[in-house]
This record gives sequence, structure tokens and C-alpha cells, in this order.
Amino acid sequence: MADAITVIRKAAWVVAWDEGTSQHVYMRDADVAFSHAGILFVGSEYEGHADEVIAGASVMAMPGLVNIHCHSGDEPIAKGLFEDVGTAALWGNALYEYSALIDSDPDAKAACQTVMLGDLMRSGVTTHLDIASPHSRWLTLAAESGLRAYLAPGFREARWRMVGSYRLDFDWDTARGRERYAEALAFVEQARAHPSGRIDGVIAPSQIETCSEELIQESVAQARSRGMRVTIHAAQTMAEHEELLRRTGETAPAMLERLEVLGPDLILGHCIFLDHHSWTRQRSRDDLMRLAQSGTSVAHCPVTFARSGMTLESLGAYRRAGVNVGIGTDSYPFNMLEEMREALICSRVTGRSVFDLDTGGLFSAATTGGAKALGRKDIGRLTPGAKADLVLVDLSHPAMQPIHDPLRNLIHCAAERAVRDVYVDGRQVMKDRRVVNLDYDGAVRELQDAQKRACERAERDDPQGRSLSTLAPFSLPLAARG
Ligand SMILES: [Zn+2]
Repeated sequence: MADAITVIRKAAWVVAWDEGTSQHVYMRDADVAFSHAGILFVGSEYEGHADEVIAGASVMAMPGLVNIHCHSGDEPIAKGLFEDVGTAALWGNALYEYSALIDSDPDAKAACQTVMLGDLMRSGVTTHLDIASPHSRWLTLAAESGLRAYLAPGFREARWRMVGSYRLDFDWDTARGRERYAEALAFVEQARAHPSGRIDGVIAPSQIETCSEELIQESVAQARSRGMRVTIHAAQTMAEHEELLRRTGETAPAMLERLEVLGPDLILGHCIFLDHHSWTRQRSRDDLMRLAQSGTSVAHCPVTFARSGMTLESLGAYRRAGVNVGIGTDSYPFNMLEEMREALICSRVTGRSVFDLDTGGLFSAATTGGAKALGRKDIGRLTPGAKADLVLVDLSHPAMQPIHDPLRNLIHCAAERAVRDVYVDGRQVMKDRRVVNLDYDGAVRELQDAQKRACERAERDDPQGRSLSTLAPFSLPLAARG
């Protein structure tokens, strides 16, 4: 079939893009026409030819959400294990002592990725940036899902090693890191060459503290020569912050500034512990300015960190300082709308004000903020010429009723329950709440065994030889059978 045209007729609400003021605006009772080629029309009445007409009376059409930081690799099977634990000596963070123990085996990779992709589209995501270790089906599954994908194969020269439950050390293996780096460079070219045109690669030195300064500089130069984005976890934990201070006397943004790698093509994962953060010992207030002036973007993923009692201070303050912030989901539950709600709440709690950030500002971060981080003006907005990446929200869902302001209902209340249909490049990837192109239910069934295997490995690999019941005790005591 040639390029079939779909029209959403008289959508009760449309989140449209206003070129004049460069912002999202509400339209009432508007038509949206699109094809595989892109958005053709957004306005009061589309008069052209239509191959398919969708009644819009109980629908809000909005741009697909842009998730600039998630991990398909191990996170789907880490669910339910370590939400109540952390390492006290490392500011309560669970990453190094606990989360790093869980990794999925080759048999589980595809199921993990499938569940993540399904959960992302169920919560309105149309573009995602997945940082993971490549596996044989990574590129294929990302393409088959129909989502727009930025695949970022991570590489690093050092591995974390916990000494007891009190110190983080690093085991350096530069040769191995360099091998992974070479593989990553080959992979991103393969991703970029995918015929779907929806896949690109991202260069991803995994963490600022696990890569040498030389590797960071070299990989950023590689990305720049290829016109690709770079993403690095930076300022994500206090342990990392203190480690950088010990090594260089610098905060993460100061170090990256010295290495001359800050810039609009760099996305920093998390970027929580900057010099102004109340947990750090810094007395300067320069990091936000470093990010803003260089055009560096931040991928903000509040849920994982808020679970450990920490958050960026504050999303509203970053935006007011001129820092471009996009939203990511990092780990499970891969629910972009819940992530957005938490981003808004954390911003207001840490900003100590309801005025720290409003719903419209948050929605911009999750759409055009992410698009800007990826260097794109053709996603994250509904306007003629943009990609046909859009979401239809069911306004008749009880969680969306009554309606005064549908985005507020969606973000503060309904979340993914009201997401009905999702289109990427004008093709439906979620239809009436069902994932179209992936065996989502089958993948969910595989996770139980995959998690069991991962837990057995965690017990075996734990340097302290702890049992699973010690590492991840149940949240309630198990009753004696009587
Ligand atoms: Zn991450």
C-alpha cells in the first residue's frame, strides 16, 4: 500500500505544537492527519483524502514521549529484590553492593528487553535510549517493536568491587574495556545502518568513574566525528562524587569541562550530586552553569533514586538555570508516566514549593527536552512535518474523569491506564492497550525463571557469601504453616 493517510477526526483535545511561541498548546475539537511519512495536518478541519478515520470524541492526541535513559539488560528481573536495602556507608545506595549482583543470562536478555519495550510503549513512549550490553537480538527486537530506538552499548575499563559493606573499590582492566569499546563502535554503525530508519547508535562510556580520562575523551571525539550522541552516567551517586574528588578534586561537570567533552551532544545520566546538592561538601555553585552554558543535557530518572531516598535538587531549578533536562525511566517499572509524576513531585519536595515546576514544564521535559538532547526537532511535538509519533489517550477511562485539564489527569492520576493507542512513524505499535509487534505476555512468563537463575548467581557471586534471604529479605515475615 502506498502511504496511507489516517485522520483522527475531531479529537476532543490535541496537544499541538505552536511554532510561533515554540511551545505545546491545547487545541479543542481538532483534526490530526498523518501517514508513515509524518504529521500532515494539525488544526480545526482536515479536508484532504483519508484512508482511515478514527473518531476523536473521547480521545486526546499527544506527541509520543521521549525516554532518554533506560536499561533493558538486567533491570526487568531486578524487580522486588532490593527496594528495602542499601549500603549505609555509601549513603544508602543499593547500586554497588546489591543491584550489581543481578545480571541476566543470555537466555533472559530478549525477554527482559521485550518486557521493557512493551512497558515503555504502554506508558506512551515512542522514542527510547537503551544503555545495555549488546546481545544477539538487541537490534532486531528494538527494530521489530516498532519504537524509535537509540541503542547505546556500554563499555568501561573498571568494574566495581565492594569491600565488605563499607568501601567501593575499582578493578581496572583496560584491555578488556578497550575491546568492549571497539565492539561498541562497530555496533553503533550497524544500528545506524538499519533499514527501518528508526534506529541510531549512541556512544556510551558507562560511568564517569569507570572509564579513564583518555577513553572518555577518545570516545567523545569518535562520537563527534560520526555525528552521534554520547551518554555517560555522571554525578549519579555520592560514592562516585567522593571518588572523583579523591582522584581529581573535581565534581563530575568540572572534570568533564576540563576534558572539553561538555556540549549539546552529551547526555549525562542522572546528574544529581552537583556542587549545589545539599549532600555534597562543595561550597561552590558552578555546576549548573557549566551544564547550561555548554548546552549539555541531563537525563533525569527520579524513581530509582527516590526509592533510595535521594533526588536531584531540583528539576525546576535545573530548568530555570537553563539546563536542558529530559526524562528517562532508568530501571523498572519502565513506566514513563509514573516517572513523570515522580519527577514533578520530587521537584516540588526538593524545591520546597508547588511553584518549583508545573505540569506543562514537566511535559516539555519529557517530550521536547528529550528531543533536544537527541538533537531532533522532528519528534516530541505534533506539527506538520514532524514524525508521526503520537499517543491516543482514552478520555473515557474512569481515571481520566472528570476532565478539566487532561494532561494533569494523565500525569497526576491515570498514567498508563488511559494510554490506548501508540503510533511510531505512523504505524501502530500499541492497539487498544495491546502491544502489537512483540510477544509481551510470553516474555513476562519467562521472567520468573530468569529471575530465579539470576538470584542463584547472586548468592554464588556475593563476596560475603550471603544467602538470598539475607540479601533480599521478604518485606513481611513468612508465616509458619499451621
Ligand atoms: Zn542508568
